[in-house]
Amino acid sequence: MDTRLPKCPGVVYLVGAGPGDPGLLTRRGEVLLRAADVVVYDHLASPRLLDLAPPGAILVRAGKSIGHCEMPQDAINAELVSHARAGARVVRLKGGDPFIFGRGAEEAEYLRAAGVPFEVVPGVTAAAGAAAYAGIPPTHRATASAVALVTGHDDPEAEGGSSRLDWEALARFPGTLIVYMGVTHLAAICRVLIERGKPADTPAALVESGATPRQRTVAATLADLPVQVQAAGLGPPALLIVGEVVAHRAALNWFEQRPLHGRTIVVTRPAGDALDDANTLEALGAEVLLAPLVEIRPLADPTPLDDALRSIQTYDWLVFTSANGVRAALDRLNAIGLDLRALGRTKIAAIGPATVEALRGYRLNADIVPPDSYRSEGLADALLEPVRGGRVLLARADRGRDVLRERLSVVAHVDQVAAYRNVDTATIPDAVVKALRAGKVDWITLTSSASARRLFDLVPNDVRPRLGTSTKLATISPVTSATVAELGWHVAAEARTHTAPGLIEAVLEAESQARR
Ligand code: SAH
Repeated sequence: MDTRLPKCPGVVYLVGAGPGDPGLLTRRGEVLLRAADVVVYDHLASPRLLDLAPPGAILVRAGKSIGHCEMPQDAINAELVSHARAGARVVRLKGGDPFIFGRGAEEAEYLRAAGVPFEVVPGVTAAAGAAAYAGIPPTHRATASAVALVTGHDDPEAEGGSSRLDWEALARFPGTLIVYMGVTHLAAICRVLIERGKPADTPAALVESGATPRQRTVAATLADLPVQVQAAGLGPPALLIVGEVVAHRAALNWFEQRPLHGRTIVVTRPAGDALDDANTLEALGAEVLLAPLVEIRPLADPTPLDDALRSIQTYDWLVFTSANGVRAALDRLNAIGLDLRALGRTKIAAIGPATVEALRGYRLNADIVPPDSYRSEGLADALLEPVRGGRVLLARADRGRDVLRERLSVVAHVDQVAAYRNVDTATIPDAVVKALRAGKVDWITLTSSASARRLFDLVPNDVRPRLGTSTKLATISPVTSATVAELGWHVAAEARTHTAPGLIEAVLEAESQARR
């Protein structure tokens, strides 16, 4: 997508971020975010969306959350105007839709008065988003032909009628009521609606954190809802939906039924590799936190790799043990002015399906792929016959077990060269430690013995006993499981195929067994 926009004097874009799922941002919103100089964002906008802003962009949190108001409205207005006057492209990112209970109109009026140009980009408002993700259609030919969007911010039972709403009319409204900001006064709202004539057995639901992996819904009758919501411990942000349409949820609930919905999973692979896992896990409904335990870095000195690549024609076999090795070596080939033709006479061996995939990305097929085995010994043995008597170049990480080289050296001339570095990460992100400490993490996936040990070293003492108990551990192979056991932790799931997708499969199986 072309993210270049014509440079113009400062302007403010009031952009709707949607209700939670970052995928619900509009394409126009994305284009503007990618070109933003300044992003002033609400706490209700998905933090993931901030990743779309260019690296140098100034990010300003202007969130208003109930109980603590980080930035008063005046200060937000002043912030927008001052950046725009300085010539910046400012994105004012607001939860849901900017013009629905978002004070977007007030901000736009202020900008107009200040002479600052603005544009408005609509977003999926919480009523549309949370209702869709809760399986509750706001309208339905059989049950509702009208919808009212209502604010529940003011106490409907307050002395002197500080609520500006006509609750009498709302109780008689012939359709669905969708109440924003209604958690604090939920009991009063339900009570007033019943008092003013809405049948006590009208279906009603509260949807908490709609369209996020944390979405929870309680559905009951209007009379019972407050007690059930309290029992379930639901809180803001949440949407109250009142009307016959709530009954459709029984058949239409889809989001909360995805196999890993409500589960939080920490993925410990290096950042780049982890994204594939994160996408798969999120599609299955999980909330994913990334805590890379090793990082993939380029070589400090690529000379030995460059020399090996320059003389690649003298090798009969080039052996790759990881997708990172493939990418690092083949990118280096280009960097030194060669291309794939240099590999012309050299055969390629690839260990693991991800390695094979990475080669395909360069239009290369592996000549040999050892069958799946979790032990380096087994993988090496499968290569013994093919490479016998030949010259082998082993391109791999700068550290790791030496089994492959040792075994192959018995039958062939083997040169081993580092294609990239594996560097231990110094810390686990604070957000992950916090989630672990709060008992909010259901699973941690571990793809090597080294990462299991690293995890042990990096988690604070008070968190360590949680691992293997309330937070379950899933491993990629019996070797990793053995290390986890040595560390004194219980392994709850182990991959049957020793790959990242196999590991996810194992978590899924364990979850579906637990649910049965
Ligand atoms: N402009 C926003 C609404 C802001 S008012 C929009 O169009 O959606 C804030 C209220 O919106 C919250 O109190 C809550 O009632 C509702 N809300 C926002 N995000 C929500 C979500 N993900 N799930 C449920 N309700 C949400």
